[in-house]
Amino acid sequence: MPILSLLNPKGGSGKTTLSTNLARSFHERGERVLLVDSDPQGSARDWHAANDSNPLPLIALDRPNNVKTLSSMSTSYDWTIIDGAAKLEDMIAAAIKVSDLILIPVQPSPYDIWAASDLVDFVKARQEVTDGIPRAAFIITRMIEGTRLGQEVTAALGEYGFPVLTTRITQRQIYPQTASEGLSVFDGLNTKAVAEMQALTNDILTWAA
Ligand code: ADP
Ligand code: MG
Repeated sequence: MPILSLLNPKGGSGKTTLSTNLARSFHERGERVLLVDSDPQGSARDWHAANDSNPLPLIALDRPNNVKTLSSMSTSYDWTIIDGAAKLEDMIAAAIKVSDLILIPVQPSPYDIWAASDLVDFVKARQEVTDGIPRAAFIITRMIEGTRLGQEVTAALGEYGFPVLTTRITQRQIYPQTASEGLSVFDGLNTKAVAEMQALTNDILTWAA
């Protein structure tokens, strides 16, 4: 079953926030989810450890060779979600190789979008030898509520040639607040955050189909 990686070598782009909340979102729908922490920083591990009754299984992989084992492991789950590493080229390369789908979270700033260029090239190089697999899409994160996407952001993303999922994730206190207790927005009272995470889950299901 699909392996979905959240990848962006840039720290702070929202990989761990999306990985944990998406894992929980799929779980809420009755899907069997495996969450994989591939970042030596171990943020997803810390998140998982902060909540004794976390319903999600999590494994930590810190060697590229171990990432390969996910192909066989993923058959026991409906979704395997990999929280990507920052900066480590070989961990990101291993995740690209094992994934069916790659989501690239980017903040809506030209600097963040330009910084994704190496990753885009990396993914495209893999797609060329494997008939377009993994498929890749952008997800815009940490939008300031009430603002619009700048023209330069839209134009720069368009040039990369990957789709941009329609749902945007907003900058909201509820994300770090719930994370600090090993929880997700589904445990909080912010209905907008829940709605955007559900909308993103729907986007992914449509895109992946
Ligand atoms: P990455 O894993 O890509 O380094 P994180 O998910 O850890 O990024 O996010 C970096 C920081 O920004 C964290 O403190 C996180 O709580 C915060 N953050 C991420 N997404 C949001 C959001 N949508 N709203 C508010 N804070 C966010
Ligand atoms: Mg992280």
